[in-house]
Amino acid sequence: MKSRGYAALSAGSSLVSHEFDRRDLGAHDVALDVSYSGICHSDIHQVAEEWGPAIFPMVPGHEIAGIVTRIGASVTKFSVGDKIGVGVFVDSCRTCSSCVQGLQQYCVEGMTGTYNGLERDGKTVALGGYSNNFVINEDYAVNIPDNLPLEGVAPLLCAGITLYSPIKHWNVGPGMKVAVMGLGGLGHMGVKFAVAMGAQVTVLSHSPSKKADALAMGAHHFVSTKEASALVPLAKSFDLILNTVSAELEIGDYLNLLRLDGTLVVIGLPGKPYQVHAGTLLNGRRCIAGSMIGGIAEMQEMLDFCGEKSIVSDVEVIEASYINEAYKRTVASDVKYRFVIDAATF
Ligand code: NAP
Ligand code: ZN
Ligand code: ZN
Repeated sequence: MKSRGYAALSAGSSLVSHEFDRRDLGAHDVALDVSYSGICHSDIHQVAEEWGPAIFPMVPGHEIAGIVTRIGASVTKFSVGDKIGVGVFVDSCRTCSSCVQGLQQYCVEGMTGTYNGLERDGKTVALGGYSNNFVINEDYAVNIPDNLPLEGVAPLLCAGITLYSPIKHWNVGPGMKVAVMGLGGLGHMGVKFAVAMGAQVTVLSHSPSKKADALAMGAHHFVSTKEASALVPLAKSFDLILNTVSAELEIGDYLNLLRLDGTLVVIGLPGKPYQVHAGTLLNGRRCIAGSMIGGIAEMQEMLDFCGEKSIVSDVEVIEASYINEAYKRTVASDVKYRFVIDAATF
């Protein structure tokens, strides 16, 4: 299948218009016209090789919302015309203990990423969603509720599920005090979901200008972290902290904000390791945990929840030619709150 999109041709280079081929439609595949493709900070990390050696040319993009144009002979889950979404992985082994539990993102063999990796044949380079079309095995795509606008849905396929999953796993609900670190693409979805679950939500942000937006999203408190002293009064006050910050920071300053038995969930993935002092964990029986996206069933559950509650991402829709500028602005924490590429402009 002929595709047209945007790619980085080498590590750290600007993205340019790029034509390429995708695999032909298999019996269990669906082809979709991409409508919108979100820009995740993970795309930026990988183009810059901040997570280690990457594969180029790289077509990034793992927040894909589109419309089915063709279905393979054995497809049962989708029909032509359906609105569907694709997220961070396009396959997994399907048989390991994680996959059989529906936790494909933790596949023991490693999930098959939507881009910057090889497909399961071990040789085809996976190319992502910054493109006009896509092919996906039906088991790894999800249905998009009809009432939601596709541009606001695209970011749910990564940013949305990545916050929904830990919010469910740690049973966020009424009476819980939750902090969200970083009000970016992921963080703003964390605020919306934690508020929807009934928790008391505080945003910890190094961008004071985001206060009004945070409160409009339903956050109960906003704390500017520009001065480290701002955290001192918050010591021992949260049950759960969701850390979506993409940059390195003093994690101990934030662990100190957990009350007894509290957990800080690491979600942001800067290239360098965090320093954790053992004493910070012992005092208060604190936990530091991690969470990575969510499985297919949970993605569908999240989208259905969004459909019921009319939750979507706050987006800035851009043309493909703006991608490089959007990368710069995302790194500068200057996006409200997710850039989404209009795929008609590829
Ligand atoms: P984003 O839109 O750029 O948001 C990150 C936010 O972090 C910024 O908006 C900013 O919020 C804060 N921040 C950035 N630089 C900072 C600094 N130097 N000091 C303090 N705060 C800073 O990025 P995103 O797309 O939400 O992704 C966030 C991170 O999650 C990335 O590292 C990404 O790779 C990772 N990620 C992980 C998963 C997973 O499965 N765990 C999935 C997707 C992405 P304020 O302006 O409010 O401070
Ligand atoms: Zn992502
Ligand atoms: Zn598996």
